[in-house]
Amino acid sequence: MRSLTKSNAQFKKALKKLPLGVASNFRYWGDDKTIYVKQGKGARFSDLDDNQYIDYRMGYGPGILGYADDRVDAAAIEGMKVGGVFALATELEYTVANRISQMVPAAELVRFSNSGTEAVMAALRIARGYTGKDSYIIIEGGYHGLFDAALWYTPMEDWVEGQGDPELVPYSDGVPQMLKKLIHTVPLNDANKLEDVLKKHGSDIGALLIEPIMGNCCSIAANAEYIHQVRELCDHYGVVMIIDEVKTGFRVAKGGVQELYGVKADLCTFAKAVANGYPISIVAGREEIMRKVGNGIAHGGTYTAHSVSLAAANKTLEILDETSALEDIANFGLDMQKGISEILDSRNIAHSFSGHPSMGGLFFNEHPPVNYRSWKKSDYSFYDTMAQHLHELGILCEPDSREPWFISAAHDKSCLVETLNKFEKAVDQTCE
Ligand code: PLP
Repeated sequence: MRSLTKSNAQFKKALKKLPLGVASNFRYWGDDKTIYVKQGKGARFSDLDDNQYIDYRMGYGPGILGYADDRVDAAAIEGMKVGGVFALATELEYTVANRISQMVPAAELVRFSNSGTEAVMAALRIARGYTGKDSYIIIEGGYHGLFDAALWYTPMEDWVEGQGDPELVPYSDGVPQMLKKLIHTVPLNDANKLEDVLKKHGSDIGALLIEPIMGNCCSIAANAEYIHQVRELCDHYGVVMIIDEVKTGFRVAKGGVQELYGVKADLCTFAKAVANGYPISIVAGREEIMRKVGNGIAHGGTYTAHSVSLAAANKTLEILDETSALEDIANFGLDMQKGISEILDSRNIAHSFSGHPSMGGLFFNEHPPVNYRSWKKSDYSFYDTMAQHLHELGILCEPDSREPWFISAAHDKSCLVETLNKFEKAVDQTCE
């Protein structure tokens, strides 16, 4: 049995100064289960009790090259020497913006900020500023950050199929109820529903916010036909299509999910993988729209384009663009899925995978859900129990199955072998 004695003691201490004993609500896993990290390197980290883990969370995606990558850290140190933030521009801003434009064709013009939340918040403002329309559409089950306009969801517990659409509720106390009247929600992979909403409310709708691979909902994936229909409907109704690539960007392909689907967003947002964990995010898009920034639309920030983050981003993007890192990551994911399937098939356990192998969802159903509504029908009890066994064995996946398994370029053959051995044990322990 893994000991969390030191993490438990740290939790008690931290609770005196930090709500839930952590700096982000999502890091609290229970009073006796919250883990405090000692150090990470590559795909592995140790906790305060010296338990060793292979990580499949990778900070929810940022660790695309692995923790403490020497090449990125060396670049960050050079960036530190530039001086930080000046309330003035630096050359590096152009260098990184140019790199992004070359990797993502939709990113004709680029602006930086610090977190995914800030980037999506900016994208929504830019879309509204450009169209002059305040309402927007979000996809059920999506997550776009911790700002009031995005903190809405459709809980599925009380929803009954055939009895109307699920209710939209705020995800947090403190979110003004009055925002609700601006928001429309539609299920993924249902173009008819989207068209209905646009027919009725299109004249008020400025933006549609979508993650074609839902990084916060088991990587449920849109089908390609649907994404192209969304593109056409947005064009037809003059709605700015925002593709939120905070999780998929510079991960599922060099050009992100847009490259995978062969679609171009009007605006797109990036964060996690951009700088291998150094804080930076991006809102980018069509020149005609982005030229409104600074020309009526506000954007900026004291810490925007910090020299450390820019230098780290420049090096990370260079590696992702010029090496086989993303291919290697996808191949590792495919090998892992193959190994997992062999283990589960040999025990006649129905299962399926969704999304992209670099951030795949695992379901104990024959077919993955097509959207959040069909997700409701999945049984997660097996996954939840198995995840606890995996943690005990030193394989750190998210305890909540809605989060995909994030793979980095540092996940190597030894990780694969160890993960599959332990996965097999965890499955058997769950079946006992
Ligand atoms: N958009 C998506 C798709 C995300 O997955 C997240 C975070 O997980 C965000 C936005 C918010 O990013 P951040 O946590 O950096 O503010």
